[in-house]
Amino acid sequence: MPHNYRLKLKEKKINLATDLKKVELEPLNDSTEGKDQPLPAALEPGKALGFALVGLGTLTLAEILPAFASCKYAKPVALVSGDPVKAGKIASQYGIASKNIYDYKNFDAIKNNPEIDIVYIVLPNSMHEEFTIRAANAGKHVLCEKPMATSSAEATRMIDACEKAAKKLMIAYRIQYEPNNKLAMKWTRGSEFGKVRVIEAMNCQNIANSGQWRLKKELAGGGSLPDIGLYCLNTSRYLLGSEPEQVIASTISTPGDSRFKEVEEAVFFQMHFPGGVVANCSTSYGIHQSRRYRCYGDNGGWFGLDPAFAYKGLKMEVSKMVDDVEWRSNPAPGEKNQFALEMDHMARCVIEDKKPFTPGEEGLQDHKIMEALYQSAREGKPVKISGNPTGIDVFRGTLPE
Ligand code: NAD
Repeated sequence: MPHNYRLKLKEKKINLATDLKKVELEPLNDSTEGKDQPLPAALEPGKALGFALVGLGTLTLAEILPAFASCKYAKPVALVSGDPVKAGKIASQYGIASKNIYDYKNFDAIKNNPEIDIVYIVLPNSMHEEFTIRAANAGKHVLCEKPMATSSAEATRMIDACEKAAKKLMIAYRIQYEPNNKLAMKWTRGSEFGKVRVIEAMNCQNIANSGQWRLKKELAGGGSLPDIGLYCLNTSRYLLGSEPEQVIASTISTPGDSRFKEVEEAVFFQMHFPGGVVANCSTSYGIHQSRRYRCYGDNGGWFGLDPAFAYKGLKMEVSKMVDDVEWRSNPAPGEKNQFALEMDHMARCVIEDKKPFTPGEEGLQDHKIMEALYQSAREGKPVKISGNPTGIDVFRGTLPE
């Protein structure tokens, strides 16, 4: 962290041990009713880190801006948009000063705005590289939407730029911060269901024929795979903590469907992980939405989520043999706003000078695997992925709270 940024954090005098003015209340229920969670405590608004949102599309308006209401360490302070009228309306809704509205040309002037600590990039995929590099050069930390970019070469340049500027780079893999998926990760790596040998994952939706950027190769980088199939890929890696050694894939597009002139409709793929573990995944832009996975263990049970990748309403399913009877249940570890969790994690990593759990390296690895998947589909044969470091969570940083 460069000297001037340390100074700025010092000026804000953020000390999480004392600034989070925690409150405790007498327990309402006996401990047999379950352990009470600590009550949420937030930084006062003057100390919360300031986010600039780049791109005011569906995700920013429908999910990210409303999520700030649940954040403890983050607040929206600036908007970047090509449409000043829209930006003005949104700024007034969220109490953002009109002097903090930028466009894509004067974006670099954020350098002179000390209210902005972190830039959150929510643009079409091919624009992530440019705005990450410009944000880092302007002295700001970067939270970037998934997929990180449109190629591993772009992703590498993004990591290099943030490293050179000594700025943090996090990719917005919200699933890795979410309580249901975190519990599934614990079970996948534990022994409750024996060894998880097979993960089956599916993420599909029927996409509108609207000329949107997602159907344009230059802007999206690919079709269903980098947009929604990425959830199957990234979540399998997250659950297991290991990296695939070999992949095999095929891509399919319905002949004559005008949506899929430039990008693929569907990808069916397998990733082979160490120890004979397989993730069998499907993604499609051409069928009704399904966003689920199941993890099959070798000791009398499976568990999973359906839906698993939605913004809310995630539902856990467990099947376990007890006394020779198959028991089905729906454990509920609770629901939290996924965008608030990830933005707070980013803010805390900046305050505490820690590497985010899903840093640029996590996004780069997904791009390398997607490139291997496309290669496998083109060549009609499995593709080996060599040179992965050994160990668990090798591309991840600090565990979220
Ligand atoms: P969107 O089309 O709704 O919004 C994109 C924004 O970029 C718009 O405001 C648009 O005006 C602006 N833009 C600037 N230049 C553009 C250009 N040349 N072409 C098209 N738009 C341009 O898209 P979105 O759904 O908000 O997706 C934005 C990013 O967020 C993508 O990278 C996407 O993969 C990601 N995303 C992530 C999640 C998640 O759950 N984490 C969900 C949806 C989207």
